[in-house]
Amino acid sequence: MSETIRIHPLVDQGLKPSSAQFSGGTLVCHCKERPVKVRVSGQVAHDHACGCTKCWKPPGATFSLVAVVPRDKLEVIENGDKLAIVDNTAAIQRYACTACGVHMYGRIENKNHPFYGLDFVHPELFQEPGWAPPEFAAFVSSVIESGYKPERMGALRSRLKEIGLEPYDCLSPPLMDAIAAHGAKASSVPPP
Ligand SMILES: [Zn+2]
Ligand SMILES: [Zn+2]
Repeated sequence: MSETIRIHPLVDQGLKPSSAQFSGGTLVCHCKERPVKVRVSGQVAHDHACGCTKCWKPPGATFSLVAVVPRDKLEVIENGDKLAIVDNTAAIQRYACTACGVHMYGRIENKNHPFYGLDFVHPELFQEPGWAPPEFAAFVSSVIESGYKPERMGALRSRLKEIGLEPYDCLSPPLMDAIAAHGAKASSVPPP
């Protein structure tokens, strides 16, 4: 029963452990010719499965895999002329390849945003193995917005837990705490 529930092709067979040797790599889009290449120098952080409707995911995936890297550790090294921002009005400006549609990185330009300074990347685009596997599943209920049947959500959450991805309907508690702490600091609430 549970094997019919697809999360993401790179997660459905179980999580691959990260490699201590992984020191970054090159993200490559899906183009056969002139692929966009983005160099990331360092391991990714907070890798997670995301159920939102904005993140890029491969065909057949219910969730995207998305992680963050410091923006100064990310550099477009080849064919950056093919990149365009998907939605200028979004908090995260997602740079997609205009030929294959793959999102190469997402950047926050608002300095007051809690995640300013971090770029969002899809680690499955690394040509090298060893990137840190997802740690949890975020925005799980949002898959319904992409057409997932509400009555299948119980089975979906069970499958996520079985794989080792604790399902949350927003971000994980530590990240939600970080956002709240940023907000409290911005509004100068004295610490309790
Ligand atoms: Zn492409
Ligand atoms: Zn997302």
